[in-house]
Amino acid sequence: MTRLWNEPADFADEMIAGFVAANERYVRRVTGGVVRSTVSPAGQVAVVVGGGSGHYPAFGGLVGQGLAHGAAMGNLFASPSAQQVYAVAKAADNGGGVFLSYGNYAGDVLNFDAAQERLRAEGIACETVTVTDDVVSATTEEKHKRRGIAGDLTVFRIAAAAAEAGYDLSEVARVARLANERTRSFGVAFTGCTLPGAEAPLFSVPEGRMAVGLGIHGEPGIDETAIPTADGLAELLVERLLGELPDGIDAARGARVVPVLNGLGSLKYEEMFVVYRRIAELLTAAGVEIVGPHVGEYCTSFDMAGTSLTLFWPDAELAALWETPVDTPAYRRGSVTAAERADASALADAALEAVPPADEASRAVATTVLAAVTTIVDTVDAHVDELGRIDAIAGDGDHGIGMQRGSHAALAAARAAVDAGAGAATTLTRAADAWSDKAGGTSGALWGVILNALADKLGDEGRPEPTAVAAGIVGGAQGVMSYGKAEVGDKTMVDALVPFSSTLAHALDGGADLASAWRTAADAATRAAAATADLLPRMGRARTHGQNSVGTPDPGAHSLALIATAVGALLTAEKENANV
Ligand code: ADP
Ligand code: MG
Repeated sequence: MTRLWNEPADFADEMIAGFVAANERYVRRVTGGVVRSTVSPAGQVAVVVGGGSGHYPAFGGLVGQGLAHGAAMGNLFASPSAQQVYAVAKAADNGGGVFLSYGNYAGDVLNFDAAQERLRAEGIACETVTVTDDVVSATTEEKHKRRGIAGDLTVFRIAAAAAEAGYDLSEVARVARLANERTRSFGVAFTGCTLPGAEAPLFSVPEGRMAVGLGIHGEPGIDETAIPTADGLAELLVERLLGELPDGIDAARGARVVPVLNGLGSLKYEEMFVVYRRIAELLTAAGVEIVGPHVGEYCTSFDMAGTSLTLFWPDAELAALWETPVDTPAYRRGSVTAAERADASALADAALEAVPPADEASRAVATTVLAAVTTIVDTVDAHVDELGRIDAIAGDGDHGIGMQRGSHAALAAARAAVDAGAGAATTLTRAADAWSDKAGGTSGALWGVILNALADKLGDEGRPEPTAVAAGIVGGAQGVMSYGKAEVGDKTMVDALVPFSSTLAHALDGGADLASAWRTAADAATRAAAATADLLPRMGRARTHGQNSVGTPDPGAHSLALIATAVGALLTAEKENANV
């Protein structure tokens, strides 16, 4: 249970503000997250990490000398947007290129990749290594699909130590890739976590039972057993991880290992020490050479009670990097030579661009855009709990709040644009960017793609033809598929969006007016969204818990159908008003 908050929607933002106020010696706030408040040598590779908030000390708590140069901090359990990652990377860049690293989740991959493309387009060299340490989330054959959990620490740390030692970007990426390959984690949970203001945990574990194979965003475990003794748990964790040695480690006996026993949020250190006592005995009995063990909280999941064991198997080069000093708000080892404080005034956020000119007809369309975004907000607000519940079955439970954050931000941006005299395209572009920036998560980025594609066809001059609207939606569907790589049948929003766009175009071709064509298309989307209940997910977070979701529709397809239906009703009402 999270007990203290003001407005739940402001929680992440207020948390970051307080974190920075308490740690000015290490970090300063920039758009999208935090960067070091100290000067880094010119030409040093900038290590930028990130992910959703709710995992402290990941990710902001790991920014400082010897560790990350910056952290993109998304909303609670939601990926930072591409704009956030880009902004943090720009602020962290020392002229030596940017190294991005984060846990392997679909939403994070989308947004970090988009940021990477943008940085490269500007001539800033950029490389990425995603962390894939969680052994239960995919088989060894598909280990590149595994999630990242507490193993973030070893990968970030090795990359940062290499950057600090003067490695160039490709060498930083090389050692980080090796560190990831040599890091394996496995975890269990006794309770789920409850987001601020939420009434129920994202998942629950029956009293006396333990979920095996935890996720760090409220993804339920993949198996469940009775809670073992502390020693029994140590045996389970060690046995599983010694059963899967990384490439390059032929036998546990004689190999060097760094064990990290990570607390998920509300497990006591004392309990972890009791468990660690047995872990150390077991590793020693297996002939492993234990170096620098860690017991503590490195990557939490809000107030979840649980723990994970990470085994990191460094070679000589990684072991030497691992031993270099670090000084961050949450992680300190050895003693660093304190760097100079940076001059904060050197960095100012870009001012809002002026609104481009628009004619009267387009400004009138902009008010319809504003009304449509208002309808989206009302629809999302009315269904926020339902969307969260559907997403919690196989995903991470944040679809409702993500859509809420995105649509509300879009509405504020659209209203400001209309007040400043913007035309339809500019109004919708501002709404799209605000949506993807504030929503976080996969769906936020994809809604930004859809609305931007539509905006592209509306223009800031004149009243667009209905066929232009259809072309915009078709472009949005194509954009979502090329950005997210999902196809029809993968159990994503694409399953509703594709029939929506094709039916809309077809109905207009057949001579229907926009409002009735839209309604026909929304009906097709609604049927297609309902039919996703029968599918197995192949994309996104839900993939890991695929079986659980059979019988439940895809949350992103369902919300899209609800929104399409509500906007259809709005267009019909507007048409009837215009006719009287
Ligand atoms: P996250 O998955 O980051 O938690 P949300 O919960 O807000 O984001 O949205 C989940 C929805 O996003 C899914 O139900 C699905 O419709 C959609 N989605 C996820 N991955 C993809 C993808 N690669 N392509 C298209 N849609 C996707
Ligand atoms: Mg989700």
